[in-house]
Amino acid sequence: MNMHSATDTGSSEARFAGAHLTDQRGAAAVKDFQQKIPELLQLERLMREHGNWLRSRCETTLLYRDQHFPVYSLSLGAQSAKAPTVLFTAGIHGIERIGSQVLIAWLQSLLERLQWDAELQERLQQVQLVLMPILNPVGMYLNRRANGNGVDLNRNAPIDAEGRVPVLGGGHRIGAFLPWYRGRRQGQMEAENIALENLLRRQVLNRPFATVVDLHSGLGMRDRLWFPHAYRKQAIGNIAEYLALKTLWERSYPNHTYIFEPQSIHYLSHGDLWDYFYYQSLAHQQPHFLPLTLEMGSWLWVKKRPRQLLNAAGLFNPQTQHRHSRVLRRHLLLLDFMVSAALNHSNWLPDAARSQQLKQRAQDLWFD
Ligand SMILES: [Zn+2]
Repeated sequence: MNMHSATDTGSSEARFAGAHLTDQRGAAAVKDFQQKIPELLQLERLMREHGNWLRSRCETTLLYRDQHFPVYSLSLGAQSAKAPTVLFTAGIHGIERIGSQVLIAWLQSLLERLQWDAELQERLQQVQLVLMPILNPVGMYLNRRANGNGVDLNRNAPIDAEGRVPVLGGGHRIGAFLPWYRGRRQGQMEAENIALENLLRRQVLNRPFATVVDLHSGLGMRDRLWFPHAYRKQAIGNIAEYLALKTLWERSYPNHTYIFEPQSIHYLSHGDLWDYFYYQSLAHQQPHFLPLTLEMGSWLWVKKRPRQLLNAAGLFNPQTQHRHSRVLRRHLLLLDFMVSAALNHSNWLPDAARSQQLKQRAQDLWFD
């Protein structure tokens, strides 16, 4: 596979939380954003109000039709290079805005609890949380999957599938007028992905243990947790660790019904970000890197309200208030669990002997 190295795009530290961008936005732009991307304004509000806990950064600013769209990262908790880390990303696909909303709702709870919960304050001294809740603000503003250049950010990493991919859906280079466009050529990622890569290099891939939860909503009846590979059908090198994490979750929360599995058993795709970053983690000699994609099953919402089918955004986002609140609640436990799992990784990561058993079990489960 061919990989390129990104250059630093010169991000700016903004501990005061995006105030520079908020201030520069005229009244008309604020109104426009309130209608089309209220999530961004909500995030900026949290950044302003909780600057004592949140370290905020504008990783890059995208220009689209004379409007400026910041891509923020937020960090909280331990800053030591030894601290295990959880990265939360959402909004890679602009139309799947429920992912950003779930993540921002969770962040808001966390920040409220930090005001009074000494136990949580203590926990955060031992783990670093990094969030990029709106990776594709232009896509979200336009209510579409692709970014401002018409590129599908999760088909845009420099890695090709080994095997047949779904026509179009697996990623293609025909043109930006069709969905799932990978971008013009191999090796040059879009600005949003370069910002994400810079963040990973700075704060994630150099930690002794890191997991990722990347929030999406997809077409399906069930909530799924997917892990690499997406580019080929073979088991990933740390499959034993994934199976240990799956077992940990299912034993701890037997009433939750996420389907935890490798993406490749469903379909292969080109340019998957987490395939790419997994191999980056190996290049950085990171011992443990476990990215997960949460695919919230949106057919659950459609089934109960078929009228949603008439509205493209409705396929990817719950459209009634009570259902929306339920989805915002539904995944909080999983996000909390991921923090605990990172913090306590030495208590569940398998040793060499158990890894062998788990590897065999994974082979039987998914790859025979
Ligand atoms: Zn998605």
